[in-house]
Amino acid sequence: MIKIGFIGLGNMGKGMSINLSKKNLEIIGYDINPKSINELKNENIQFADDIKSLTKDTKIIITMLPDGRAVNTVWREIIGLSKPGQYLIDCSTIDVKTSRSVQMLAKEKGLFTLDAPVSGGVIGADQGTLTFMVGGNSNIYKDMKFLFEIMGKNSILCGEEGAGQSAKICNNMLLASTMIAVGESFNLGKNLGLDLNKLFEVISTSTGSCWAVNSYCPIKGIGPVSPADRNYAGGFATALMYKDLGLAINAAAETKTKINCGMQTFEKYKQVTKNGKGNLDFSNIINE
Ligand code: NAD
Repeated sequence: MIKIGFIGLGNMGKGMSINLSKKNLEIIGYDINPKSINELKNENIQFADDIKSLTKDTKIIITMLPDGRAVNTVWREIIGLSKPGQYLIDCSTIDVKTSRSVQMLAKEKGLFTLDAPVSGGVIGADQGTLTFMVGGNSNIYKDMKFLFEIMGKNSILCGEEGAGQSAKICNNMLLASTMIAVGESFNLGKNLGLDLNKLFEVISTSTGSCWAVNSYCPIKGIGPVSPADRNYAGGFATALMYKDLGLAINAAAETKTKINCGMQTFEKYKQVTKNGKGNLDFSNIINE
């Protein structure tokens, strides 16, 4: 049986590791937070005491960590302990530079690496319907595709190392902006006296349709069930979207790309996060 290490068993890593454990795979998990481990204690998952024993015992290691700093620390530790021929896949959303630099370091040690950030949120992680945006060598991608097929419904090889992270930050910058625009549109409709159910029916089947309306409508009681129906609890935290927008504006500065709308969007999410609402789902942005 293939042994897979899974590091970072939080909101996303939890569902992803459970889905892997339901297939013919042996999953060894690790997290610095005992609460994350405790939540998985009734699953078919074993736990390592540290990164050293996890690295020693596994062929493939997946990381799902909060940010580039955590990935840099954890990957450097794994690389120092690993043997040539092991596979390392990072599914966290981090900056392109860090992603490339740790993958280059791993390559020097004879490891096979991919960056494979995801879209689809906690629901997608739980239901195994994520989209993986992958960067790296095509043979390594082919070797690891079976894992993406268990944890998700789509995987796209976007290019070389770091290309998955590049695609992810472009996607999230667009989503963060469209969510604000959706809120403004529904507010205008409300102030014009429109029935918002009718407005949803129109927009979701017209040229204004988009994922933020059709699948995640941010208005309570309108459209499919979304975090708006539970007062914006759970889902994808505003603070994480703010982090991703920071990655996008840094990447734009480095590549001298004009992102006027992206900058305004970044400022808005920054303000809401700094006002103490970073833990609410990002669709709460329409109320701010
Ligand atoms: P989370 O904070 O819930 O989980 C991260 C886990 O990593 C935590 O359990 C934490 O204890 C653990 N961790 C942190 N440092 C560690 C270390 N040094 N060693 C071992 N474990 C460590 O975050 P999440 O919502 O699961 O998101 C994870 C990543 O996925 C982020 O990069 C995020 O941007 C991205 N993402 C999240 C969503 C979402 O909807 N939550 C969607 C797409 C992408």
